[in-house]
Amino acid sequence: MTDGAHAATGPGRTPREVATHCPYCALQCGMTLREEPDRVAVLPRQFPTNRGGLCQKGWTAAELLDHPERLTTPLLRDPAGGELRPASWDAALDRIVAGLRAVQSGHGRDAVAVFGGGGLTNEKAYALGKFARVTLRTRHIDYNGRFCMSSAAAAGTRAFGIDRGLPFPLADLGRADTLLLVGANPAETMPPLVRWLTEQRERGGRLIVVDPRVTATARLADLHLQPLPGTDLAVANALLHIALTEGWIDREYVAARTTGFEAVRRTVAGWWPARAEALSGVPMADLEATARALGTAERVIILTARGAEQHAKGVDTVTAFVNLALALGLPGRPGSGYGCLTGQGNGQGGREHGQKADQLPGYRRIDDPSAREHVAEVWGVPAEDLPGPGVPAYELLDSLGTPAGPKALLVFGSNPVVSAPRAARIERRLRDLDLLVVADFLLSETAALADVVLPTAQWAEEDGTMTNLEGRVLRRRALRTPPPGVRTDLEILADLTARLQVQGRAPSYTESDNKVPFLAPGRGDADGADPRGVFAELRRASAGGTADYAGVSWERIDAHDGVFWPCPTEDGPDTPRLFADRFATPDGRARFHAVEHRPAAEEVCAEYPLHFTTGRVLAQYQSGTQTRRVAALRRAAPDAFVELHPDLAGRLGIDDGEQVRVVSRRGELRAPARLSTAIRPDTVFAPFHWGGAARANSVTNDAVDPVSGMPEFKICAVRLERVERP
Ligand code: SF4
Repeated sequence: MTDGAHAATGPGRTPREVATHCPYCALQCGMTLREEPDRVAVLPRQFPTNRGGLCQKGWTAAELLDHPERLTTPLLRDPAGGELRPASWDAALDRIVAGLRAVQSGHGRDAVAVFGGGGLTNEKAYALGKFARVTLRTRHIDYNGRFCMSSAAAAGTRAFGIDRGLPFPLADLGRADTLLLVGANPAETMPPLVRWLTEQRERGGRLIVVDPRVTATARLADLHLQPLPGTDLAVANALLHIALTEGWIDREYVAARTTGFEAVRRTVAGWWPARAEALSGVPMADLEATARALGTAERVIILTARGAEQHAKGVDTVTAFVNLALALGLPGRPGSGYGCLTGQGNGQGGREHGQKADQLPGYRRIDDPSAREHVAEVWGVPAEDLPGPGVPAYELLDSLGTPAGPKALLVFGSNPVVSAPRAARIERRLRDLDLLVVADFLLSETAALADVVLPTAQWAEEDGTMTNLEGRVLRRRALRTPPPGVRTDLEILADLTARLQVQGRAPSYTESDNKVPFLAPGRGDADGADPRGVFAELRRASAGGTADYAGVSWERIDAHDGVFWPCPTEDGPDTPRLFADRFATPDGRARFHAVEHRPAAEEVCAEYPLHFTTGRVLAQYQSGTQTRRVAALRRAAPDAFVELHPDLAGRLGIDDGEQVRVVSRRGELRAPARLSTAIRPDTVFAPFHWGGAARANSVTNDAVDPVSGMPEFKICAVRLERVERP
């Protein structure tokens, strides 16, 4: 029986139960799963982050376990008819191995790429990185977390020397005197978090929200700043300008704990409130009230999320808010700080263990010689055999099938046909591949294009660990085994490795005689398909790294409500709060970086006169592959829509519910109009959970941040048209 599960016996037999976490977002709400005769029931569970709360997505998550569209057999594309047809595992894996061999022998190791996801467990993310670097020896691996929060990760790393979404427990939110949320809408994306906002306000705290839309979260706020999309950076610089003018800077903190303030001071000197108002549309009085609430309160927390990040200047925008937090002396002060709200379920852990193009486990850099030595030793391979850095997700996807790009792609836990920017182009790239393999438990839009589809286990059928938005490592526990015909991602990777190595050598393994037992690194102590063994190896690989899991054991997680990294020793403490004494930089000081506002990559013009922005709705999650198939969620949010202001609708002669077309230079989406005063009259919004004609990412811009590689999902130029009725 799985740890954490129990099945009492006796009269009437108690159903089997297991304590686990929701499969969706980074809040990772605690829940109990109970096996009942005709279904798996989801019960709320007290856990420090959700305190017994669940949102509709969590309540209904188990519905997919026995969903009629569940994949339970591999699918192979019939070369003659072009259809996907059921096949045996042997046939599917043989086809993959033959395809990988052909591509790599014809075009080199880097002709194969791997694409992962921020929903994969730590064990899978780690295994995928090792599979790419050791088995395939390709440099091309990246993941959909680039689309989620890579800009905050990059900004945090360059300011603090470490990237952990929240450097303090979530409970601190409830005690903040002032809480500033920038581009975050937790009331829709992670509703149980609203309990902390409610507690904060009941204690007399002040909640301020920065968002171009009047979101459900903005409605809770004491003050809502509604800037033009793409101008958050100017708002942050203006807030710091006011704080400087009013003398609210913590000069002692700045002198003792930071470097680089003088350049920032010079930059923000040019951001007087009237200038910021003219650019952003946020009234000077609101800027001043916000700066006062931040500058004069005792405990202050500033949080950013996708609204600030998903821009071609996302790293600089987040940096501007980090600068503000540092100038006010917040990071490391009890009850105060700066943090980022991570989105995907394992968005945090997924970016720590090696599925990023530039990264090795433990948040080590792949171009760092000592990091390579350490990880190569754990893996039992020569360090020089490890490939170098690859390229970020969008660049990778956009190179697929091109003369210089990869010819084969393996996708685990991602659906880029819906989630990538300029998605029609990415769809074409995927179609141009010699071999596309997708591992998923439903036929996503990306899986539907694949040559081989591998049916995988779901969250309630596997053990592992996830790391939530606080950097708290949690246990995912299996309630049941996967249905017949279904395998876990770890089993698939282990099997592929065995086949690639047994049939001579791994396709790219040409120089070294080190026959590496995959995921049993050189030391033969772990079965590659066993998540507990993989986690033990991950701990060794991460030891001494920034994200050090060496002291995190499954038993320790079970004994407490999770373990916060870094945790270097089993008998030493973990780290719920970072930065109390020093930052993770060589000299222990945080770094200011002077950042300037710059326009969006694509500005409005006569042909495309409106701003377009994207986001989520409460009842759907990410690319919607899962939540669009849950009956209750489908009823709550059945279709995409285009939100626009009634004034704009009046000008264009558009009625509520009428089919409209949003057109950009890259493509168009069609969906019914939804009139709302919650949006600015110069901006239209669409959720990104749907594919097909309603795909928001047909329209979005593929400009990326030069530092993080994150695409500019949050703003581009469009025109809006009525779809004429036939
Ligand atoms: Fe799941 Fe997130 Fe909803 Fe919690 S808030 S139930 S983790 S989707």
